[in-house]
Amino acid sequence: MLKIKLHWQILIAMAVGTCLGLIFQNMYQGDPHGSIFSIITSLGTIFVRLLKMVIVPLIFTSIVSGVSGIGGGKSLGRMGMKTFFYYLTTSLFAILIGLSLTNIIQPGTGVNLAGTDTFNPENLQKPGSPADILIRMIPLNPFQAASSGDMLGIIFFAIFLGVGLTRIDEENSQRLKKIFSASFEVMMNLTQIIIKIAPLGVLGLITKAVATSGFTLFSAVGQYMLTIAGGLTIHLLVVLPLLFYFLTGINPKQHFSAMVSALATAFSTSSSNATLPVTMRCVEENAGVSNKVSSFVLPMGATVNMDGTALYECAGVLFIGQVLGIELSMANQLTIVITALLASIGAAGIPSAGLVMIFIVTQAVGFQDADVALIIGTMLAVDRPLDMMRTMVNIFSDSVGTTIIAHSEGEKLYQH
Ligand code: ASP
Repeated sequence: MLKIKLHWQILIAMAVGTCLGLIFQNMYQGDPHGSIFSIITSLGTIFVRLLKMVIVPLIFTSIVSGVSGIGGGKSLGRMGMKTFFYYLTTSLFAILIGLSLTNIIQPGTGVNLAGTDTFNPENLQKPGSPADILIRMIPLNPFQAASSGDMLGIIFFAIFLGVGLTRIDEENSQRLKKIFSASFEVMMNLTQIIIKIAPLGVLGLITKAVATSGFTLFSAVGQYMLTIAGGLTIHLLVVLPLLFYFLTGINPKQHFSAMVSALATAFSTSSSNATLPVTMRCVEENAGVSNKVSSFVLPMGATVNMDGTALYECAGVLFIGQVLGIELSMANQLTIVITALLASIGAAGIPSAGLVMIFIVTQAVGFQDADVALIIGTMLAVDRPLDMMRTMVNIFSDSVGTTIIAHSEGEKLYQH
């Protein structure tokens, strides 16, 4: 098994996990348990815990050494502009795909969700306002941000520190830069070790996802799921590869195969944050992007640039509107586009974060919270497979952006 390339191992693990999941589901009629099941699924839990363990030190050291390497001032500003431009354009593209498909297919028209609610709407935590998202970026205490895993806070402080390092006297600056880049190297090394067990982790995660998802509800909201899955597929297989090809001249197939481990990890963990170490490794090792670029674009991208989530926010809210029988004007739809973008920026890179963020969008167009919560409850019940797909799209977009920006900075990619 170990002679086979890692990405093949992961794909095999996904296939085996799907089969095992189906077997477990049939054996235990939708309530899988038993010692073999728990041993297999704990492989997934262990893998995710290991990834989460390295995230904070990895992104912190990576950003500090990356940003201090770019040098403050002009070049940082130039890369920052490119990065934000990329984040915005691709997320908007994704939203427009969601908007068009949902308007054409009309998945929510005529759907009756009464009686399908098996949850308590009170339990859903609602997000703050869009302005809160921006204010929350500034941590009150960087150490607390690190210990509570507040990604935006950590990123903000790390960029600031990286810029600070370029402004102090040469001797101290060199000394500190060395410490940060050495720590970063160590963290990347730990990541490499963890990625070696990715096939086992993916096996556990997929087995669990397949074995525990209930299929009964899927038919009621089948069209809704197909609409979103269709939109995500178009963005993943058409829009992003075309953009990649036009801006780098490299065959997108090459990039897909370089990113297999990251895509599979995103798909099976449903978490951009947990996938981040794998994404960094793939982009640097397989595509040949420098740490300067990847450490700037990827960690921020994992929370800020979520194309899949943006598409989902827009399509999800239109779906809710259709179920409630509300006609949305052009102005309403424009509000949805803008708030969907903000909601995707504010969503954390963790499972189902995008779903909860839908409240920001529904509030902006003035839907009643109580009606919405009922429908969101149903959407929550079928969220896992959609979350797996949108996380994969989120990660892929980050990786495409990183490669495009590295190319525009004159880096030689895919040299080996
Ligand atoms: N799970 C997604 C991610 O981590 C966020 C979402 O729920 O859309 O990228």
